[in-house]
Amino acid sequence: MARTRKPVVEVRRSQRRRRTVSAYREGERVVVLIPDRFSRAEESEWVARMLARLAAREERVQRTDNELLTRAHKLTARYLPDHVGSTASASVRWVTNQNGRWGSCTPDDGTIRISHRIQEMPDWVIDYVLLHELAHLIVPSHNAAFWELVNRYPKAERARGYLEGISAATGLVLADD
Ligand SMILES: [Zn+2]
Repeated sequence: MARTRKPVVEVRRSQRRRRTVSAYREGERVVVLIPDRFSRAEESEWVARMLARLAAREERVQRTDNELLTRAHKLTARYLPDHVGSTASASVRWVTNQNGRWGSCTPDDGTIRISHRIQEMPDWVIDYVLLHELAHLIVPSHNAAFWELVNRYPKAERARGYLEGISAATGLVLADD
């Protein structure tokens, strides 16, 4: 989905800022932080520039979310073919706000969130985490029926070992629930 509406922009001037300009979305608004000494011309130039940059960044995120969803569909077709119906409407996206988990899932509304921390990991590890969460749409708890689904993925054991290794090395306790 493309954002077609022009965002409401709020410019905040800061005396502490010398050169840096930054922008972020806050609800429906876009907040642009600029140095206090900027002229009006510089302000409008930078607002335009930051809006373009923000739009480009959001488009990139959108694209990778779509890639993630495509992957989820492929994994389902391959490993959970008998459950395509229960996972077809799932929404899948990358998130940056779940520091304690690789992935999580809300079976009630079919949403899956995958931590950006695994974004740079090998594809087969991302696939494992994704399949793990997809399996939770079918079986919410970690019982035998759940592991039967997950272990259809040939590299499941290897991926678990990989993730445990990262946890041990970083001191982070990253599990899924
Ligand atoms: Zn789990």
